[in-house]
Parts: sequence; C-alpha cells; structure tokens
Amino acid sequence: TPAFLDVRDLRVHFPTEDGVVRSVDGVSFTLDKGRTLGIVGESGSGKSVTSLALLGLHKGTRALVSGEVWLDGRELVALPEKEMRQLRGSTVSMIFQDPLSALHPFFTVGAQIAEAYRVHHQVSRKEANDRAVEMLQRVGIPQPRRRAKDYPHQFSGGMRQRAMIAMSLVCDPALLIADEPTTALDVTVQAQILDLIGDLQQEFGSAVVIITHDLGVVAGVADDILVMYGGRRIEYGTVRDVLKRPQHPYTWGLLQSMPHIAGDVDRRLNPIPGSPPSLINLPGGCAFHPRCPHKGQVPDGRCSLERPELVPVPGTAEHIAACHLVADIRGGENTRAAQ
Ligand code: SF4
Ligand code: MG
Repeated sequence: TPAFLDVRDLRVHFPTEDGVVRSVDGVSFTLDKGRTLGIVGESGSGKSVTSLALLGLHKGTRALVSGEVWLDGRELVALPEKEMRQLRGSTVSMIFQDPLSALHPFFTVGAQIAEAYRVHHQVSRKEANDRAVEMLQRVGIPQPRRRAKDYPHQFSGGMRQRAMIAMSLVCDPALLIADEPTTALDVTVQAQILDLIGDLQQEFGSAVVIITHDLGVVAGVADDILVMYGGRRIEYGTVRDVLKRPQHPYTWGLLQSMPHIAGDVDRRLNPIPGSPPSLINLPGGCAFHPRCPHKGQVPDGRCSLERPELVPVPGTAEHIAACHLVADIRGGENTRAAQ
C-alpha cells in the first residue's frame, strides 16, 4: 500500500538576481498516519521551505516547484490553489514557531479557533464556539470557557502555543506540520508542548512532521528522522538507527551540539564550526566538505570532487546516508560519533 504521505524528488527553487536559490533540491520521504517524522537541519537547510511546499504555500509566488507530494492518493504540487485552500487548515495544518504571528491580536483566542473551524464546517457560531472551548480544554488550557474570551496577549508564551495547537487541530487534520514549535519557549514548557503534541498525535492519529534545528527535540517524539543539509537529504532512517548509529559527520555534529546534562549544568557543546553553505553555489563534491572534520579519512580528495550518493547503511533496513565514509563503516557500532 502506498504511504499516506509520499514526497518524491521535491525541488523548490527561487530565481533571484544573484542566481537560483535551490532551497530544496531533490527531497523524498514517506510518512504514515499515526507516525512522526522529524526533519532536522540548521537554518537554511531547506527544512522550513519543504514544509511550506507541503502546504502548497508556494502557489502564486515565483518559486519553482517540481516533484510530487502525494497525500492520501492526491498529488498536491500540481493541485490548483483553490483546491489546496480547501485542504489547508483542514486536511493539512501547521503549527508555527511564533503563535503571535499566527494569532490575530484583535480577536479573542476562542473566536479565532471557532473561525478556523467555520471556514471548513457549516455550523452555527454557537457550535463553533463550543468546539473551540473543547479544543482549548484538550490542549490543557485551564478554565477553557473563560480563557476562550481572552485575547492572545493575555496568554503566556506556552499557553499561546497550546492555543495555536488547538487551532491547528480544530479540523482534525490528517497531516500536521510543526515548524520549530518549541524554539521560542523555555525548556520546561518545551517539554510540555512536545508531550502534548505526542499525546494529541496518538489521540487524533494524524501524521506529524516536526521541523527543528535541535535533534534533541525529535529524539523523544519522532519515529523517523530526515537530516537535511544544503537543501538535500544527507541522512534518513528510523530514530533508533539514526541516533544509535549516525552515519553522516553532520549528524554527528548535530548530536554533539545537543544539550548535555552535566550535574545541574545544561550545556550546549561543540556547535558545528563554519556556516551553512550558499544555496546558490553549493560547494562541489560533498556540500559539507568545507566544514567536515573527517574528510581527511577519505582518500584522493574525493570529498571535494565527488558528490556522495545516498546509500543504504549496511545492516539496516531503511537507513540511508550520503557520505563517502558510509561504505567504510560497514556494520558495527559507530564509535566516531561518540568521540
Ligand atoms: Fe565529510 Fe567527506 Fe563524508 Fe562529506 S563525504 S561528510 S566531506 S567525510
Ligand atoms: Mg525555519
């Protein structure tokens, strides 16, 4: 059976005066209902643009989009904007990083959630308001009937994100996309919001895509991980495989920049040196080679000359990575990542 969400060779290119920005360049993945995919990468890796393309938000812009996005048997890249608009907010829904950019300051939280429901359902105002209150309750807002009458600025940051989640779930979406849903929140609230997304996912049975720069965010909630660099996939597999036996030096770098709890100190160690590559002129060979501390292990300067293909990691079912070292690692636990 085909996957519920099947993204094939997705490309999103933006023509600019300086050249074509290849934000997403050949990304493929699948996701079934009830499962969570974490798309991980630094800013500029193409992860957010990928999610916007899933929502069809490129339509009517100058972005050049190719490839296929199959959602429940329907192809979205070629779908006319009018039909996409009917899916957006109902079948496909998004939680944004900053709820204040998604919630209107002049309308009460309850009214906005009710309105999001009424866009897709022929119900009375009263029914929509009841639905909004019910959703606020389900996302853990205390005294939901009273708080529904508050304006967004009367909510704390964590409560606003809960309200945003209530709004994105109000139409029971089959696909929920969360772009850096916890970045603006403090660590305790982050954990609560991730738990909430996990619980609601179980309850609603949606497919969830979480976009993040922080592998730690997806480690606890995702089933699969897709690591992006320079608009491309560089590693993809189950959370278990990717975290236990990460194959790509960039993934090792992301792992090492996860928070480490040392005594009572929450430290971020070893951010990956260097900057993300230009999406107009990606470095030749392996796009990561200018920053890669391991390129010396690959003979003949291949890293700067030859682009590594995504290859299956030996000994796993569906774990793939694009690094010339993968062929050398063959089996066994990867010890380099821990060094
Ligand atoms: Fe590093 Fe070479 Fe692997 Fe690229 S292909 S990640 S430069 S070792
Ligand atoms: Mg982003």
